[in-house]
Order: sequence, then structure tokens, then C-alpha cells
Amino acid sequence: MISAHIATALADAWALVAPVDCAGCGAPDRALCALCATALRPSLRRALLDVDGHALPVVAGLAYEGVARAALLALKAEGRTELARPLAVPLRRAVALAWPGAGADVLVPVPGSRAGAAQRGFAPAALLARRGGLVVTRGLRALDGGPQQKRLRLDERLAGQHPRFIARPALAGRRVVLIDDIVTSGATLRDAARALRTVGAIVVGAAAVAATPRRQGVSSLLWRFWADDDEGPGDKVGPEGYGQGKEA
Ligand SMILES: [Zn+2]
Repeated sequence: MISAHIATALADAWALVAPVDCAGCGAPDRALCALCATALRPSLRRALLDVDGHALPVVAGLAYEGVARAALLALKAEGRTELARPLAVPLRRAVALAWPGAGADVLVPVPGSRAGAAQRGFAPAALLARRGGLVVTRGLRALDGGPQQKRLRLDERLAGQHPRFIARPALAGRRVVLIDDIVTSGATLRDAARALRTVGAIVVGAAAVAATPRRQGVSSLLWRFWADDDEGPGDKVGPEGYGQGKEA
């Protein structure tokens, strides 16, 4: 999407000349001050998301609160794309842990709503992945649920009664790790996984920048910090080579 690339390049260029305040605390002249930047250090957590009886491992890089929440909101609602680079660091770490070695071959970002994309000129998950140096394949398209979708009750969304995405048939047989910006109830990831399975793709994991802590709002996900159990694969598997040559 050339237009999206140009839009983010223009926004980045504008941020260089426009007065900017720290997205975390409002301190002047920096997109993110040094103190707030430390709040974006990865604090990895994982959960298992039930998708029609299959447990999908989900890894998130941060808690969606405080500076992380403010920075993600500024990126998405105010178009402050200069924040994508620091936010991409926890995403990269989450992807490295969600990626099951040689058992996956493509990273697919979850698209935002079509209305949101038209308004912003960029798709947050895809932008964050690119800023993190990850190669992604655009394998999902949002169906035009828009505001209607938002009015659905959570139980309707959890039950998957209204498909939100359509997947590219070319992904049949591919092993996919999903990427998203924020995980709340997991309903969006579940809908994305269902769409991919419909075309015969195998969804093996999901990674996100941040996850809503269980105590906030409705969440069926029980997050465990990575340090609570084992070390996991860590950085042994670097994300740079993921999905080589599969940009689409
Ligand atoms: Zn700050």
C-alpha cells in the first residue's frame, strides 16, 4: 500500500518540525521522554486463547496501561507515528517468543477496521511490525462491520456469530503467527484466527505490543509473566528472517 507508506512518511516528517510533547507525561520537545521510554521496556506475558477448542498461544510485550496505553492511543488516535518505533521493541520481543522455531512461516497483521484505516491512513499492527523490522504478509481484510461491529455484545463476538475478517486463500497450508497492537478480550484475535482457518491456514501463535491486564474490563485471558515459568526460546530465534520475501 504505497499510500500508507507515504502517509506515515509525511507524518514522521511533520513530527520532526512540529512542536511535540511526550506521549507519556506531556513533557515538551520529545515524542517520548527518557523516563517514559523506560516504561516501554518489554515485560513479556503469555496466555492461551481458546479458539473453538484449540489453545492458541498469545504473547504480549507490555501491560496496556500507563505510558504504554498513552503511547498506543497517541499513535492510533492522533496519528503520532513517530511512537511506532519505541512501541515496536516490545512487539519484536513478543514475536520472538510467539514464533515456534521452524514451525511457522508467515507473520500476518490483524487489520484495523476499514473506517479506521481510511481515517488514519495507516494500519497500526502492520506499521508497528514494519518499524520493528518484521516482514509481514497482508493476509486478512476487515469486513465492513465498522460501528455496527462495535455495538455487538461481547458474548456475540466471543461466539463468532459475525465474521469480521476474510483471509487470502493463498495462505492455505501456511503456518501463521498473528500480530496485533492490543489484546483485550482476545475476541479480535479469535475472529482473525477463524478467518485464516476457513481458508486452510494453520494459526500457530499470536503476538501483540500490549495486553489489557485481567483486572481491567472484561477479559477471558489469564496472563502469566514469562519469568513465572520457563525461559522460553528467548532471542535464540531472531525475527528478521521471518516470512522472507513474502511482503504482499
Ligand atoms: Zn514522558
